[in-house]
Amino acid sequence: MASDRSWKDKYLQELESSEQREQQWKAERNSLERMLVRTCLASEGQTSELDRLLIRVRKDLRKGTVNVEKWRVLQDQIDRQVAFLDDRSPKARFGKGRSTRPEAPVDALPDTGSSPNATVGDENDLEDNHAQRLRIARRVGQLLGQMLSRVTLDPAAEARARQLQKSLSESNNWEVLKTGLNSVADLVIAAITRSQKEFESFLKGLDERLASLRQHLQNQSSAQAGRLDASRQLDREIRQELETFGRQINAGGGLMELKRSVSMHLETIGGAVQRFCEKEAELERNYSWQLEAMQEKLATVEANSKQMRKRIREERTKALTDLLTQLPNREAWEERLAFEYSRWQRYRQPLTIAVLDIDLFKRVNDSYGHKAGDRVLQMVAREFRTRLRSTDFISRFGGEEFVILFPGTSAEDAKSVLDELRGHVAALPFHFRGEPVTITFSAGLATLEDGDAEDTLFDRADKALYAAKEAGRNQVRFSVDRESLSASSGHQARQ
Ligand code: GH3
Ligand code: MG
Ligand code: MG
Repeated sequence: MASDRSWKDKYLQELESSEQREQQWKAERNSLERMLVRTCLASEGQTSELDRLLIRVRKDLRKGTVNVEKWRVLQDQIDRQVAFLDDRSPKARFGKGRSTRPEAPVDALPDTGSSPNATVGDENDLEDNHAQRLRIARRVGQLLGQMLSRVTLDPAAEARARQLQKSLSESNNWEVLKTGLNSVADLVIAAITRSQKEFESFLKGLDERLASLRQHLQNQSSAQAGRLDASRQLDREIRQELETFGRQINAGGGLMELKRSVSMHLETIGGAVQRFCEKEAELERNYSWQLEAMQEKLATVEANSKQMRKRIREERTKALTDLLTQLPNREAWEERLAFEYSRWQRYRQPLTIAVLDIDLFKRVNDSYGHKAGDRVLQMVAREFRTRLRSTDFISRFGGEEFVILFPGTSAEDAKSVLDELRGHVAALPFHFRGEPVTITFSAGLATLEDGDAEDTLFDRADKALYAAKEAGRNQVRFSVDRESLSASSGHQARQ
């Protein structure tokens, strides 16, 4: 709200100059009024009706109760009296003194045509009358000159007044003088009404500018989403001020009073704007605090969820890993087999599995202890892991049994791999209680065929393993025909 000071200053300045203008108008008005009083006095003694009207003029001026509308009527009445005087026959007008003079009609317009009964009357009276009128006109012209030297009028009025003054001072033509005298009254009325009109338009302008200020503030504040309450309150406060202000304008009152009132309203509006700004700043602060708090929370949540994801990953790995050998466990095997099985269904790449079992492992345990057995399991597992391709998948199925998945591999190729692996395991340099110990394993192979399910594939491999054991151990056997598998139940018998 950087413009806060400038618009306030502007209005106060405006009021200041209005006050000066008002004082000037007052001076002009006084001067014009004084002139009018003198004109009235100079014009009295023509007809009693005219006198009555002129007395009213002077009374209004004295009391300061000039009413423009009433005065227009008054002016019409005076015009009619003057016209009546002009049109009266010289005889009737200047006959036997005042008491015998016929009075001009008060309400109706006088007959404007020249009287058919008019006769040339007393020449001296006529002369006197003419001279008197000229005197009045000159006096009015003189007063007008004095008035013009003291007041400022708008250029057009000034020019008209100067022209008027000239004709009143110089012309001998009564028609010209009569029009001129009428114009003086117009000029007075114009001067009086001018100040009122200017004052009104000043107020109107001020009102409009305050209204547009309100609109501006309203637009600006309503543009801020979430700040409706503050902006509504500001709007309400300003609207109230403007309504009060509007009522006071309608009620009228002097400029000084208006100045006080406008200053007061501007103070109130300024206060409302300031309160609005403070509220807005507070909201801003709150928002930024909230934002900061939210950002902090978000960061914590993000960190937490990252940690959670990591833990879940770890937990999952743990759940799928065999603790002793660090190989994938049986659950991992089931998952992987299901995955490779569905891949096989889609791509039909050969898929071979092997079931391995360490030969006579019970003996190791029995001869050298369970720990020695564990050590054998760990060493063999490491050998399996390091020797196999990364695309192959090995898992500790349980006890001293292992299973291997060979994706994209035929049974023969898998057999070559396993035979080679048997050689490596057999070459592992185990020594227990000073004796070298050779570890061997047997394996059964099965390749996935149409009609196989995951478990039938396993059973076939397991059956082959059984056959290998039967055949003397330390060897790899292919799976038997599926038909014969259903006839016997190999693995269960071994368990
Ligand atoms: P076969 O050649 O017929 O497989 O003879 P085997 O002795 O290996 O077979 P068996 O199933 O009779 O014995 C398996 C043994 O493996 C029994 C068990 O104590 C042992 N074993 C199973 N799991 C573990 C283990 O985690 N650690 C140790 N040390 N021994 C285990
Ligand atoms: Mg076994
Ligand atoms: Mg065994």
